[in-house]
Amino acid sequence: MINKLLTLKRQRNAVILAHNYQTGDIQDAADYVGDSLGLSFKAKETNADVILFAGVHFMAETAKIVNPSKRVLIPTLEAGCSLADSCDANALAKWKAEHPGVVVVAYINCTAAVKAQTDIICTSGNAVKVVNSIPRDKQILFCPDENLGQWVMEQTGRKLILWPGVCHVHVKFTAESLAKLRAAHPDAKVVAHPECLPIVRSMADEVCSTEKMLAYCKSSPAKAFLIITESGMLHRLKKELPDKQFFAGPTDTCSCNECEYMKKNTLENCVAALENLAPEIILPEDIRQRALVPIERMMALGR
Ligand code: SF4
Repeated sequence: MINKLLTLKRQRNAVILAHNYQTGDIQDAADYVGDSLGLSFKAKETNADVILFAGVHFMAETAKIVNPSKRVLIPTLEAGCSLADSCDANALAKWKAEHPGVVVVAYINCTAAVKAQTDIICTSGNAVKVVNSIPRDKQILFCPDENLGQWVMEQTGRKLILWPGVCHVHVKFTAESLAKLRAAHPDAKVVAHPECLPIVRSMADEVCSTEKMLAYCKSSPAKAFLIITESGMLHRLKKELPDKQFFAGPTDTCSCNECEYMKKNTLENCVAALENLAPEIILPEDIRQRALVPIERMMALGR
């Protein structure tokens, strides 16, 4: 399947972008593996005719928003996101109307229709930088992840009004499940994603985006790490840092934690997408143009 995928990639003049939560075989076949921020830059920069986006729907939409002349494919339309779904564009419009004059900061994990209503986008890798770029006398509405929003409040000392959304994957990590793993590996450093619950974040040595996890584990003198995020991240960590040990964050019922939406993508449906040039991301042009403005503001702040 990998040979077939790479042959089709050449024939279609395609680039394969894969999120850190994709399965190992897809990551290995991809041209670039990264977090939402890195993938957005790669999507904007590519000269390929086709972008096969091995991630979830809002990520492929972002690629189309920043590089509309490309054909953007997603392996399956079933690769959605419960967090993005929690923030409906109409409900956001109502929320904004209740808070006139505010600045709306949206985590990139939202639909194009939601992005189109915001002032600036952020990722978990740059959320603190984005919020710090807004004058301190401005009130901020932050959507859709309240755990990331709370973490940004802790980092910036600013009060944000938070949309009540969560990533159902990251809130499954509990203090009890992490305490058991930590007891089994007392010398390991705990690295947690900011979408985790505050109690879990408080137990971490480092809280950061998936891309920064790699940098942290690389520069740390520690030899073992407990990785409290979606377990696809371990493939990249083990591949790039083979001399270190990584343990997946457990839930109360399982020794690791997968996002079922991310895992809808397979080598088979990646091949089918390039064969059929579908499913393709199509966006209304007015939404795309409005959604581009807050993404470009974020990109202007750098990586
Ligand atoms: S891990 Fe959470 S935020 Fe990421 S795609 Fe899955 S449900 Fe959405």
